[in-house]
Amino acid sequence: MITRRRAFLQENIMIVASDNHERASETQSPSWQHQLSHAIRDPKVLCQRLGLDETWLKGAQTGHKLFEVRVPDAYLNRIAYSAPHDPLLRQVLPLGDETLAPAGYVTDPLEEADHRPARGLIHKYAGRVLLIASPTCAVNCRYCFRRHFPYSENSPSRAQWQEALDYLRGDVSIHEAILSGGDPLAASDRQLAWLVNELEHIPHLKRLRIHTRLPVVIPDRVDSALLEWLGNTRLQKVMVLHINHANEIDQAVVDACARLKAAGVTLLNQSVLLRGVNDEVNTLAALSERLFEAGILPYYLHVLDPVQGAAHFDVPDDEARALVSKLREHLPGFLMPRLVREIPGEASKTPL
Ligand code: SF4
Repeated sequence: MITRRRAFLQENIMIVASDNHERASETQSPSWQHQLSHAIRDPKVLCQRLGLDETWLKGAQTGHKLFEVRVPDAYLNRIAYSAPHDPLLRQVLPLGDETLAPAGYVTDPLEEADHRPARGLIHKYAGRVLLIASPTCAVNCRYCFRRHFPYSENSPSRAQWQEALDYLRGDVSIHEAILSGGDPLAASDRQLAWLVNELEHIPHLKRLRIHTRLPVVIPDRVDSALLEWLGNTRLQKVMVLHINHANEIDQAVVDACARLKAAGVTLLNQSVLLRGVNDEVNTLAALSERLFEAGILPYYLHVLDPVQGAAHFDVPDDEARALVSKLREHLPGFLMPRLVREIPGEASKTPL
């Protein structure tokens, strides 16, 4: 899987190089492609850069063998030095705990394998389908429910997308296409513009939803090339960002969100409730406040999907309910995310 992901990344970088060579003149910072391809991929480098000692390195090397480390500088710069419990670091630092295998933690917790009628397409809920637009991410989050996903079997080429597009054309009940991954925005703008162009020619499609962490992890991803295809589509545009802690939203993220909103994109956020990251009322309240300052509405707060390797992040349902109940005392209703669990086979997310 790692080899396949690396190949995809390199291919993308080559494709977009010609599209984006002018990018360097737009800003002083390196292009997003450069930032993506130079992300830290070695647990030793990660520990050195953040001043973590040998104890952490050993665990990081163990976890890295199960799911490779990936952290770009733009994200690393928001992590405190020599602070192993930093809430952003905890999301990206592999740990020896990832070898724990409690009962009920599996490689495909949402049973997505049962809902793939075409390559690269997942159809679980009425009216909407999910397209795996990229097998790679800008950051590898240790709690990711797709950390074992077989991307090599679900990363269609342009020719192979026809099967998924035919499926969409043939089902008039589908009104929304959701770009997912990996992170869909890790794909090149050329590829995404092509795919969205195909989608907007399907008359019964109304909405394009993009689930992504890239504008948060590398805010420079929201550049003129992305805004061009996104701003020009006839489809209504919703972007669901994945932010778990207020410290993830620095000024560059706020600016990226402003560019997206100016292009007509509705911004929502979903978080995962994670032990040691955001399992306190004040932390969740600060996150909602900061999201709104950045023009993003809190949408979902997910309890952890029981994926193998992430059990140490779990917050039991009763504790989650108590937290959210307390949170209500701190926030107006429109800043309250909905606490949900995804249960395989259910027709929608299940409120807790
Ligand atoms: S960005 Fe999303 S898909 Fe990628 S590792 Fe993180 S949670 Fe998983």
